[in-house]
Amino acid sequence: MPLFSTCIAGSLPKPEWLAETQKLWPQWKASGDALLQAKADATLLWIKMQEDAGLDIIGDGEQARQHFVHGFLEQVGGIDFDNKVKMGIRDNRYDAMVPQVVGPLTLKGRVHAMEAQLLRAHTHKKIKFTLPGPMTIVDTVADRFYGGDKAGRVKMAMAFAALLNQEALALQADGVDIIQFDEPAFNVYGEDAADWGVQALERAAQGLTCTTAVHICYGYGIQANNDWKTSLGQEWRQYEKVFPALAKSSIRQVSLECFHSRVPMDLIALLQGKDVMVGVIDVASETIETPQEIADTIGRALQFVAKDRLFPCTNCGLAPMSRAVAEGKLRALAQGAALARQRVA
Ligand code: ZN
Repeated sequence: MPLFSTCIAGSLPKPEWLAETQKLWPQWKASGDALLQAKADATLLWIKMQEDAGLDIIGDGEQARQHFVHGFLEQVGGIDFDNKVKMGIRDNRYDAMVPQVVGPLTLKGRVHAMEAQLLRAHTHKKIKFTLPGPMTIVDTVADRFYGGDKAGRVKMAMAFAALLNQEALALQADGVDIIQFDEPAFNVYGEDAADWGVQALERAAQGLTCTTAVHICYGYGIQANNDWKTSLGQEWRQYEKVFPALAKSSIRQVSLECFHSRVPMDLIALLQGKDVMVGVIDVASETIETPQEIADTIGRALQFVAKDRLFPCTNCGLAPMSRAVAEGKLRALAQGAALARQRVA
């Protein structure tokens, strides 16, 4: 792979013929077999767009899941999806309608076989696949079975981790090169993340021989997240709590938010020995970054991570954005990385 190989964090906007646009929990526009076909078509479309933009690592754009957590949960037994309840998530940052855990957790079958196999069949490049991390899942469901206390949360996280591991091993068998677990909750519950979140994450990645990754961000560019960020002060030091535990873990890559955020760049130094997916694209702004801005962010990160361990990435998923803006940002990402390569040559 080239120096500064580029990839997206995970999600991309859904075309308007697949689902409602610019929403985090969009309604599908079709059902049954027509919906399955539409999901596959949208996945193919974004494989092509990522390749044309010049990205080095290709993802499925999460076109087949309504939301990055609930897409997985739809295949989990022991969950009541018909009776969702309103719950404050991410430490009550915003309310979401969440399904309830009502019994022992099991996997009903494969979750992402269709997209993973489609991805493998239609690109020769390395492919990355995302799954929600156990701690973030626990923070996005209502617990009616594990007791609702801290011990219950840990137990439930480990149960979800075992299921995630089943799907991750199957994705690896499908030919996925990088399996990434998304753990935005690590930035909200730093002590718990270091205490048991990383352990649950390692359980989810157990036995994988492909590259493993974790994505930790400050969320999608939605209003509730933007408001939360303004409350975090001049320096965002949330990563400081969990990075040391991650540095000691078996997870190989860490994806983090950098551009337009108040994360002190030197926190990257806490990730000694890890590949770092540096967020160089803002997902909370419609403005498309210039190649110069992107190469500048890469340059700043290079003070703290070796160049062969730096992977330029988006700060988070692009799902709630407009398709045109997302396409522009993909092209900018590839152009910015190319410029950074020239600068270090
Ligand atoms: Zn994210």
